[in-house]
Amino acid sequence: MPCDSIGGMPGPHPQADTPDVPRPAPTGLDALFRPRAVAVIGTSSRARTIGREVLANLLAAEFAGAVFPVNPHHDVVQSMKCYPSVEAIPDPVDLAVVVVPSAQVVDVARACARKGVRGMVVISAGFREIGPAGAALEGELMAVCREAGIRVIGPNCMGLINTDPAVRLNASFAAAKPPSGSVAFISQSGALGEAILAQAQELGLGISYFVSVGNRADVTTDELLEAWEDEDRVGPVLLYLESFGMARRFPDVARRISRKKPVIAVKAGRTVQGASAARSHTGSLAGYDVAIDTLLAQVGVIRVPSIEDLFALASAFAMQPLPRGGRIGIVTNSGGPGILATDACVSLGLEVPELSTATRERLAAGLAKEASLRNPVDMIASAGPAEFACAVSAVLADESVDAVLVISITPVHLDSVAAARAIVDASRGSSKPVLSCFMGKDGHAEAVSVLRASGIPVYQFPEAPARALQAMARRRAWLDRAVGRTPDDVLAGDEPDDSIARAVIAQARAEERTSLSFEEGRRLVVAHGFPFARSVVAETLEEVLDGAAEIGFPLALKALAVGLSHKSDRGGVAVDLRTVDELATACRRMKKSLAPDHPEVRFLVQEMARGDREVILGMRQDADFGPLLMFGLGGVHVEVLKDVAFRVHPITDVDAGEMIRSLRGHALLAGVRGAAPVPEDLMVELLLRLDRLVARCPEIVELDLNPVMLGARREDAAAVDVRVMLAGG
Ligand code: ADP
Ligand code: MG
Repeated sequence: MPCDSIGGMPGPHPQADTPDVPRPAPTGLDALFRPRAVAVIGTSSRARTIGREVLANLLAAEFAGAVFPVNPHHDVVQSMKCYPSVEAIPDPVDLAVVVVPSAQVVDVARACARKGVRGMVVISAGFREIGPAGAALEGELMAVCREAGIRVIGPNCMGLINTDPAVRLNASFAAAKPPSGSVAFISQSGALGEAILAQAQELGLGISYFVSVGNRADVTTDELLEAWEDEDRVGPVLLYLESFGMARRFPDVARRISRKKPVIAVKAGRTVQGASAARSHTGSLAGYDVAIDTLLAQVGVIRVPSIEDLFALASAFAMQPLPRGGRIGIVTNSGGPGILATDACVSLGLEVPELSTATRERLAAGLAKEASLRNPVDMIASAGPAEFACAVSAVLADESVDAVLVISITPVHLDSVAAARAIVDASRGSSKPVLSCFMGKDGHAEAVSVLRASGIPVYQFPEAPARALQAMARRRAWLDRAVGRTPDDVLAGDEPDDSIARAVIAQARAEERTSLSFEEGRRLVVAHGFPFARSVVAETLEEVLDGAAEIGFPLALKALAVGLSHKSDRGGVAVDLRTVDELATACRRMKKSLAPDHPEVRFLVQEMARGDREVILGMRQDADFGPLLMFGLGGVHVEVLKDVAFRVHPITDVDAGEMIRSLRGHALLAGVRGAAPVPEDLMVELLLRLDRLVARCPEIVELDLNPVMLGARREDAAAVDVRVMLAGG
C-alpha cells in the first residue's frame, strides 16, 4: 500500500471553518505535538533572530490554536500583544517554545510549571553539548520539568513541526516549509534538519512530522517511533542519527515499528568501542568488524550512506507500493541510460529479466521498428507519449516484472509533459511500483511536477532509483521472512538453573571482581545447558595427577591465573597428553615459565574433546544496540580468520541459521573433503542457549566460549574454554 497523502501544497484547512469546541488539556507527547495554545518565550521582532523566526513560522503555518509572544522588553512583537512572562498570559498555555539564553532557561521552566504548561521545546543551546557546566544546567532543567510533568524536546534543537491539517504546528526556526504529507523526520543534528527540510520542499516531499531532538534530555527517538507506530498519517520515518541513545530499547522498538512502516536511517559507519575491546575475542572482533548496516537490517531499519539516498528512498517508499521482488523492467528512450540502469540494478543484486513473448508482441505493435523489445526496452529517441504509454503498460503487465523504471532523456522534439501524463496514465491502478528518471537539465520541470503530483518519484540519474528499488525489494523480503522461533520456544522444558548463575555473579560482585574465574564461567554456562569438556582445577602436581586419574587419558593441561587471558600465547596449553610422564613434564614446564609473572598459577586438567572443528560463540554489549551475539570459526586464530557473524539480541532460530550459513568458511562446518557435517540444529541450539543466557544475565558485558569443539555427532560437542566479564559497579 502506498502511504497516504503525498506531495502537493496543503489545500484549504479542513477544520478552519468549523466552530471552536473547547478541548481538554493535552497530556504526554500531545502537549508537544497537539497543543491548544503556544507561548514563544524570548521572541522578538529583530530580523534574523531565532526568536523572530519561530513566531513568524507559527503564524505562517496558521497554527490552529492561539499563539502568545513572551518577552519582558517588548509590549508588541510582530503586531501581537507581547506578555512580560508566561504567567502573565490570561489563557491556558500547553506548549512553550523557549529561545532565551541558557542561563535563563531553568527560571523559564519554573514559570512554565507554575503556569501549568505541559510541553517545552527548548531551542536554546548551551547545555550538555558544551561540557560539564552545561550538563549540570541540563540536569537542573530536567529536574524542574520532571517534577512538573513537562515533556521536553531538546535542549539545543531547532524545534518541531506537525503538519496535521487539524493542528498546523510549526514550532521551529526552519526557513524551509515543505508541504504536508506522510514522511516523518527525526534529526539529531539541528543544522542538517534545516537542510533536510529544504530538500523535502524542493522535491515536493510531503512531511507529517519533523522533530529536531537536540540533546534528547527527555523525549528520545525511541519514544517518537513508538508514538507514530499506529498513526496512519505517518508513512516512512527518516532518521538522521549520531547515536541511538537508550541502547537496550532501540532494537526492539525498531523491529516492531519496521513491520508497520519503513524506517530509513543515515548513521555513521561502524561501531567503534574503546578500552574493553582487547579483553575478549568477541570484544576485539566486534569493535571493528560489525557493519552497522547488518544490525540495522536485522531489526528492519534501512540504512543509507547519504542524505541524497535518504530522499531517493523516502520518495519511493512514500509514493509507491512495495514490489513483490527484485525483477525490474526498464523502459527508456535512449540506449545509454538503459545500459547504465541495467548495470546499476544488476550490481545491486536486482534482476533485469527477459520479457514474455506476449509482452514483446505488444511492444512490437506499439513501438518504432528500430526499437529494442528486450529488457531494457529501448523505445528510441523518436518515442512520443503513445510509445511511453504502450511500453510502460506492457512491461508493467508482464508476469516476470515486479517494478518498472522509466527513463527519459528529453529530446527537443518530445513533449515531455505529455510523456509524463502518458506514464501516469499507464501506471494508474497498478500494484507494482513505477519510478522515473528524467535526465538532462532544463526543459522538463513541468513534466517532473506532473509526475510527482501523481505520486511517481522522479530521479535525475538511474543509480538512485535502482538503489530505491533494491531497498524496496529488500524490505519486502524482510517482511516476508519467517520470524522464527525464540529460545523459549525451542528450548521449552529445558530450563537453565538460574540459581547457579545468580550465585556465581553475586560472589564476583561481593569480591568486586568484573571477571569470572574459569571455574565460575564454566559452572554458569553448564547451568545454561552448554556441553563442556570435563575439567578439574588443581593447585599442585599431586592434584593434577589425581585429576588425571579421575578423568583418564588423553588429556589437556592448562595454566590458570588472574590476567592470563590468552593461555596458549604463554605456553599455558598442552593438548593430547597421553601418559603420566607427559602430563608431569608439561605441568613442571608451565609452572616454571609462568610462575615469575603469575606466582599463584593453578592448573586445569581437562578431557580431550572429540570434535575436530572449532567454533566461537560470544556476546558483547554494544553501546548502541545492547547485546550483540557472535558466531564464527573459532580457536586461537579467530582474530586472524575474522570469519564471524553478529546479530542483535534477541535472536530466533531463523537468525541463528542465517548467522551460521553466512560464514565464509561455512563449508568447513557443513562438511568438505570427507568430513561429516556438524549438525546445524546443534549449532542453532547453542546460539539460542547463548541468547537465553544473555537475557537472563544482564550483568554480563562480554562472554566468549572459544573454542567450542564440534564434530559430526551431537555428543562430540564440548566447550573447552570460557571467559566472562561483568559490568563494573
Ligand atoms: P587459550 O584460548 O587461552 O589460548 P584454550 O583453552 O582455548 O586456551 O586452548 C587453545 C586451543 O587448544 C584450543 O583452541 C584448542 O585447539 C586446543 N584445546 C584446548 N583444550 C582442548 C581440549 N580439551 N580438547 C581439544 N583441544 C583443546
Ligand atoms: Mg580459548
